[in-house]
Amino acid sequence: NEEQTALFTIFGATGDLAQRKLYPSLFRLFRKGFIKEHFAVIGTARREWSDDYYREIVTTSINSLKPTEEEAKAFASHFYYQSHDVTDTTHYTNLKNLADKLDAEYNLEGNRLFYLAMAPNFFGTIVNHLSSEKIMTENGFNRLVIEKPFGTSYETAAELNEQIRAVFSEDQIFRIDHYLGKEMIQNISAVRFGNNIFESLWNNRYIDNIQVTLAEDLGVEERGGYYDKSGALKDMIQNHILQVVALLAMEAPNNFTEKEIREEKIKALNAVKIYNEQEALDNFVRGQYVANRFKNEDIISYVDEPNVNPESRTETFVAGKLEINNFRWKGVPFYIRTGKQLSTKAARINIVFKATPTNIFSQEDICEKLPQNILTIYIQPTEGFSLSLNGKEPGPGFEIDPVKLDFRTPTDVVANSPEAYEKLILDALQGDATNFTHWDEVSQSWRIVDVIRQAWDNDSQPIPTYPAGTMGPAEAFDLLAKDQHEWVYKP
Ligand code: NAD
Repeated sequence: NEEQTALFTIFGATGDLAQRKLYPSLFRLFRKGFIKEHFAVIGTARREWSDDYYREIVTTSINSLKPTEEEAKAFASHFYYQSHDVTDTTHYTNLKNLADKLDAEYNLEGNRLFYLAMAPNFFGTIVNHLSSEKIMTENGFNRLVIEKPFGTSYETAAELNEQIRAVFSEDQIFRIDHYLGKEMIQNISAVRFGNNIFESLWNNRYIDNIQVTLAEDLGVEERGGYYDKSGALKDMIQNHILQVVALLAMEAPNNFTEKEIREEKIKALNAVKIYNEQEALDNFVRGQYVANRFKNEDIISYVDEPNVNPESRTETFVAGKLEINNFRWKGVPFYIRTGKQLSTKAARINIVFKATPTNIFSQEDICEKLPQNILTIYIQPTEGFSLSLNGKEPGPGFEIDPVKLDFRTPTDVVANSPEAYEKLILDALQGDATNFTHWDEVSQSWRIVDVIRQAWDNDSQPIPTYPAGTMGPAEAFDLLAKDQHEWVYKP
């Protein structure tokens, strides 16, 4: 593993994301030798912390990875803390001095990666200062890693983008969508483009419908304040789900390279029909969970969660049908759904193939309705694929027996494979933006969801509810039933 050289500056170093994801991911990279001698981390946030205290926090955050004392110490020694209010220009001088000092000390060759693990309303002011206070270098790379949410609508996202682009060029910006760091999401391309038996069938002649489910079995927990302003549409559909749809729908890139994959994803998103408000109401369903007793636990209603407005009309569930109006997909519905407090935590994709042209077994009453072949891609909690096929039941007579070829990556392999954030940080270090979202993808995704948001905001009907621990409101099932389809995944 080739050692990468860089100074990381983490804005929001005392926060939840930094402690839960960033430090453990950096440690995994350290353990594998991707970062070794020539790296340093500056953690910044408002609080006054000493380097020693910061190192303690970092050490605690990697506890579950069971480092030896020596490893933990060596790793933590690369961390430096700088108390910093991002809105105070004078504070950036300290940051610059420390950055330059560490650059010389660790031989960092002017390579700088700025990680903004903070609320997006600070992004503009931070990037302006990085430039005006000359914290960006001339000799090495300068890369900006930013977290979701990227805006709250097309308009706000465009504004945010303009602020960032005034300082960083598109190829220096790494917009995180941690879903894209997941093994099985990256595997979508391997399955599609590495197997002729699928790629030749990957179109409206052979595929009946495609279903994407990202289900969570928890409520909003302590993020009620944030979630109540966002809702499932902005929190999950605009980014993760539309990214998955783009990977499923895109044309084969000429080569599996960042630029070409990106171009194909953008083309696919551009082909997603943008609904008018009435179409949005017809094709999208929202829901909000209400109290229920599930698995021996009393779950409270969304509106009773801490920091949630008791009158809230925020959706905790979305199901919808997307149409992709191009040669390959015309007529194939892409059904998507996501929600909180559902009956299980699961992420999976079902590709439902069309039925055989005719069922030759029907007259003999062997099988009244032949089950359709389904390719399932499991993303979470297990990883793998399955393919359902029809065979003959062994024994005398002739009965159709649906069977499932099922492959799951063994759990120890899953446990040892890199975590999403680890992969993405390494990609950013190596300058590979394949698994990050380009502005053209972000902007088109907002255009797709903005009208749905508008339609719901203008709709005064009561918001459909679902008991916590179920798979969403009845309307989500009716949505498919209208088309004579049903959700394949029924936990
Ligand atoms: P958090 O509230 O735990 O941390 C915010 C950090 O910003 C803290 O370190 C705080 O000190 C710092 N900060 C706030 N105002 C500041 C100021 N004026 N000057 C300097 N520092 C300031 O938030 P978080 O959960 O770590 O999330 C950070 C970002 O990442 C958010 O944009 C969030 O939407 C996004 N995100 C978080 C998660 C997650 O799992 N926590 C997942 C995806 C995206």
